[in-house]
Amino acid sequence: MTIQDCSIRPRRCERKWTGVNQAHCSSCHEHFSTVKNFDLHRPGKVRADGTAACGKPATMTRTKRDGTVVPLFREVETVNGPMWVSYVEDTRDHDKEQDA
Ligand SMILES: [Zn+2]
Ligand SMILES: [Zn+2]
Repeated sequence: MTIQDCSIRPRRCERKWTGVNQAHCSSCHEHFSTVKNFDLHRPGKVRADGTAACGKPATMTRTKRDGTVVPLFREVETVNGPMWVSYVEDTRDHDKEQDA
């Protein structure tokens, strides 16, 4: 199993991870279960240098079809540290795209 770590300068953090589908943000250093979730925390345009304004996963929400506002992410604790995953079950299909 390959251990990846965050070696992005100048703000290197101590986060390590092993999941190949996981995504670590080089701007805010939050860690996501999938690239899809990573993309969701940066709803704005990506700038030419590859950076974008990050949303705070803890406070981001989405509005369901029936008007209910639910959190976008929930934080889970992994052996390597905290990770943001989809909050609700019905978004899991997106996570599974990674396995296809
Ligand atoms: Zn970020
Ligand atoms: Zn980092």
